[in-house]
Amino acid sequence: MAKNNGNFVTEITPRSQDFSRWYLDVVRRAELADYSPVKGCMVIRPYGYAIWELIQQALDTRIKATGHVNAYFPLFIPNSLLMKEAEHVEGFAPQVAYVTHGGGEELEEKLVVRPTSEAIIGTMYANWVQSWRDLPILINQWANVVRWEKKTYPFLRTTEFLWQEGHTAHETEEQAEEETLKILDLYADVCENVLAMPVLKGQKSESEKFAGALRTYSIEALMGDGRALQAGTSHNLGQNFAKAFDITFQARDKTVQHVWGTSWGVTTRLVGGVIMTHGDDSGLVMPPNIAPYQVVIVPIGRENWRETVLPRAKEIHAELAAAGVRVTLDERDERPGWKFSEWEMRGVPLRVEIGPKDIEKSAALVARRDTRQKESMPMAGLPDRLKSLLTEIQAGMLARAKQFREEHTQRVSSYDEFKQVLEGRPGFVIAPWCGSADCEAQIKADTQATIRNMPLGAAKPTGACIRGDGAAVAEAWFAKAY
Ligand SMILES: [Zn+2]
Repeated sequence: MAKNNGNFVTEITPRSQDFSRWYLDVVRRAELADYSPVKGCMVIRPYGYAIWELIQQALDTRIKATGHVNAYFPLFIPNSLLMKEAEHVEGFAPQVAYVTHGGGEELEEKLVVRPTSEAIIGTMYANWVQSWRDLPILINQWANVVRWEKKTYPFLRTTEFLWQEGHTAHETEEQAEEETLKILDLYADVCENVLAMPVLKGQKSESEKFAGALRTYSIEALMGDGRALQAGTSHNLGQNFAKAFDITFQARDKTVQHVWGTSWGVTTRLVGGVIMTHGDDSGLVMPPNIAPYQVVIVPIGRENWRETVLPRAKEIHAELAAAGVRVTLDERDERPGWKFSEWEMRGVPLRVEIGPKDIEKSAALVARRDTRQKESMPMAGLPDRLKSLLTEIQAGMLARAKQFREEHTQRVSSYDEFKQVLEGRPGFVIAPWCGSADCEAQIKADTQATIRNMPLGAAKPTGACIRGDGAAVAEAWFAKAY
C-alpha cells in the first residue's frame, strides 16, 4: 500500500499531457501490475488480478453456456509439432521461446514454450476423432502463453500473458464459420456489457490474419487517446490444421474427411483496454461489473470515530455484502480526504461516506466516481439504491464510450483527407479499399495506420480505393493501433 501523501493523486501524469505516461502511472499507482526481474514479463498484483478474475468469470460463464467445456493442454510443445503447419511456423517463429535442457541434460528434441496451442491440440484431436459422431469438439482452455516481444507494455503486450484459447472441430465449413462468428458475438457482448467498452466486429485483412487461418475476425476498441486496440480474435482455420495434423473422420456418407477447425482467444490485454477506455486524470474508472470493489465505505469522524461511527459503518458493510455488492470498509487511520483520493485513483464506482451527522439523520453521502456527483441517501433501503445506481453507472459508461467513438470516427473520400485526419485528431477512419496488400502496406508507411477490420454487414463500396485507382472491394476501418 502506498504511503500517506497529500499529493497522492497528482502524482499521476495528466492524461492529456502524456497518455502513455499516464497509463503507466495508473498501472503502478493503482497497484495493478509491477515489472518483474524478467524483461518483458509483468507481475499482476492482487487488484489487477481481481479485475482479470471478474473478466474471466464473465467469459467462462458464456463460453460454457454456448456448449463449450474447459480442458488443459501442456505448456511444452515438441518443436516438430509446431513445424507441421507451414504458415503457422512462419508466423510464430520470430516469437518462439525454446527449452533445450532439462534434468541437467540437453534434450533430444527442443521444446517450444507454447505461443498458442493449435499444434498440440490438433495432435490430440487427431487421436480423439474417428467418426462424425465425435464432432463437434468444443474445448476451451485457460492458460498462459509466451511470445518473445521486443517492445512490451503492461497488459497490452507482454512476453508472457494469460488468456483463454478455444479450439473446436466441426463436420462442415458452415458449422466452423458459424462457431467463429458466434464467439465473435460472445466477445463483443462481454466487452460491451461487462467492460462497457464498445467494439467493432469485422474481418481482418489477409496481412493481419492469424498465421494458418482461412479467415480471422476481430473486435476492435478505441482507446482514450484515439488509438485502436484489437481486443479479441476468432479464427476460421478451415482445414489447414486438420490437414497438417491429420485430423480426419468418417463422414455420414462413409467417406473420410478432414475436420473444419476454429480457434479464438482474448487475453489480459482486456484489462489494459478497460484502463484506457475509461480512465481519467485521477486514475482508474472501473465499470461496476468488473470492479473488484463496487462500493467503498469511508467512515468520517473526529477523534473517537471508531466508537461513534465505525459500528454503524460495519452494519452497512454487512448489509451491502449480504445483498451481493462487492464492498470494502476502509477503517485505516488516515485522513478521509486521503482515502477519497486513493479509492478514486483505484476507480471504485461508489463511495459511501458515513459521519456522525449522517448517522443522526440516518443517511449516508454517496459519491459517484464516473460523474463525481454526490447525493445524500437514507440508510434504509441503501443496498437497493446502490445496486440500481451501479446499473446506471455501467450503462452510462458504455454510452459515454460509444459517444467518444462516434466523435472519433470519420468517413473520408480522398487520400489527402485520409492523411489529414490521421495527422490531426486520431481515431477510426473509414475508407474504401481495393484489397491489395501493397496498397495496405503503402498506407501504413504513409500514415502508420493499419486496417483494423472490415465490419461485418457493411455494404460493399462502389468506386475506387482510397489510395489508388483499383476498384474498392470493401469498406475498411483504419486506425493507428496498439
Ligand atoms: Zn488500393
